Amino acid sequence: MKFIDEAIITAQSGHGGRGCVSFRREKFIERGGPDGGDGGDGGSVILRAVADLRTLYEFRYRKQIKAEDGGSGSGQQKHGKNGADVIVDLPVGTVVTNVETGEIIHDFTEAGEEFVLACGGMGGRGNKRFATSRNRVPRFAQPGEPGELLELKLELKLLADVGIIGFPNAGKSTLISVISSARPKTGDYPFTTLTPNIGMVVHDWGEPFAVADIPGIIEGAHEGVGLGIQFLRHVERNKFLLHLIDASAIDPADPLKTYQALNRELALYSPVLAEKEQLVVLNKMDIPGTVEKADLFQDALGDLPVMRISAATTRGIDRLKARLAQMVIGHEQ
Ligand code: GDP
Ligand code: MG
Repeated sequence: MKFIDEAIITAQSGHGGRGCVSFRREKFIERGGPDGGDGGDGGSVILRAVADLRTLYEFRYRKQIKAEDGGSGSGQQKHGKNGADVIVDLPVGTVVTNVETGEIIHDFTEAGEEFVLACGGMGGRGNKRFATSRNRVPRFAQPGEPGELLELKLELKLLADVGIIGFPNAGKSTLISVISSARPKTGDYPFTTLTPNIGMVVHDWGEPFAVADIPGIIEGAHEGVGLGIQFLRHVERNKFLLHLIDASAIDPADPLKTYQALNRELALYSPVLAEKEQLVVLNKMDIPGTVEKADLFQDALGDLPVMRISAATTRGIDRLKARLAQMVIGHEQ
């Protein structure tokens, strides 16, 4: 698979609280015995896989994770408060690697799976614990154990929810660049010179989702470059397709020509993809004369809703993002 979402974060478990040095003070008792309580334990960092996350997007902002430190012990044998654990939710499929050693720490395959990444430091013992028959007045206590600090790499193979199809020059790359807030990594694809383009769409209604173009439907057929079965399997898991059309290139004599040609190529390329729902989008609506062409296109197509945008001026982009988000959510139910 090709698309990789990635984040580097640090995670630190809490330090143990220090033990206390204290002696009883009571009326009429000259010198009370030691009563310093133990420090509380530091909180642990726990990683958990959850079903409703799809990307590592939040870790672009949440780079440091820290569990709470334990509280110090105090007099009258009072135990310090234990630090709270921190639970970090990750999408299923996340692989966690220790950056320093390069070793894989955990590979999350199932929702609900939990992994204790770093235990909190133990609280130090208070002086009460050190009292012996030979030393009835210990004037020392232990410091808490330090927490653990780890640098982690999170990696997730990303499934593109939306596949973008269209002839070369339709504006696919431009569209991805204007609707996406982040570019996950695209790994080397050994079977072709065509590199898919991917972007993450962040919107107001829920989890970010990924869009990717599917290069090679036309280019590949033309140049005889196969995209390889692995890539095909990957894109066949797209929820639906965005069929992008250059409105300025619509032929008024035959408005559906390129649209139908692309669908024919698509069917040859992958019958599975050809069955997917399509959102038809007319691009380059900023170019003079496109409104008439778009109207002809819509008339010829009938009831199927067609969106109109200009990727270059970003006109209609917010509406398109909202529509895509709605469709992604719709396909989840
Ligand atoms: P792709 O081959 O489908 O990835 O298309 P590109 O995104 O590379 O765009 C092809 C050309 O069309 C580039 O020169 C873009 O600047 C231009 N282009 C893309 N979107 C628009 C648009 O909305 N309006 C206009 N006027 N040009 C656009
Ligand atoms: Mg392109």
